[in-house]
Amino acid sequence: MTLVVATHNEGKLAEIQRILADDLGSNAEAITLVTAGSLGLPDPVETGVTFEENALLKARDVARRTNLPALADDSGLIVDVLGAAPGILSARWAGAHGHDKANNALLLAQIEDIPDSRRTARFVCAAALVLPDGGDAGQRVGDDDNAAEFVRFGEMKGSIIRKPRGEHGFGYDPIFVPAEQPDRTDEDGLPLTSAQMDAGEKNAISHRGKALKAMTEVISAHIIGL
Ligand code: IMP
Repeated sequence: MTLVVATHNEGKLAEIQRILADDLGSNAEAITLVTAGSLGLPDPVETGVTFEENALLKARDVARRTNLPALADDSGLIVDVLGAAPGILSARWAGAHGHDKANNALLLAQIEDIPDSRRTARFVCAAALVLPDGGDAGQRVGDDDNAAEFVRFGEMKGSIIRKPRGEHGFGYDPIFVPAEQPDRTDEDGLPLTSAQMDAGEKNAISHRGKALKAMTEVISAHIIGL
């Protein structure tokens, strides 16, 4: 069975493949993952105002265009002192889409006067799965009467530091120290930012890892039929 991942990022596909294989073992071989990008599908405009809405609109768009099961995720950073921000605007907080350094610099400047103890934040991820011929198997049904839809969430709590550290990851990783830490510190004895963790360490605690792991159960039950 083919499952289309609503992204143009092949790295996301590899991450999902790893999570499915970890959780489902050889049963994961029943699923062939392909990206929307590799099928030449366009990225829909993200008009939603929540992570859930945006994940669902991306998965629905791909399911409608391909008539295949579609998986999408949408995520971002929520800094407590900024209310829900940057939130769904995380990728373009400083203006241009995906300009990580500018986004980090703006965020650090905005909360410069906030003391360390009050710089708490969290990453949130919504994962959405849309089965075009899912009957009434889903929790909610969208405007396509036959489609079944499932949404799962993940969260990674932590805090924002004052200067970026680490070369891995992307986005806000260099300025985010997760509350859940692996059993090591950095060379200065400091807790690790998510940019100082390797992919395995980060995936084990990340918002995306948790949402996708929760979705693995749905894939297992409703696509593979285990
Ligand atoms: P997306 O929905 O996964 O594309 O994420 C939207 C934006 O949220 C990214 O461009 C990043 O700025 C931020 N973001 C989401 N997940 C992470 C993460 O794991 N680390 C750092 N930044 C992230």
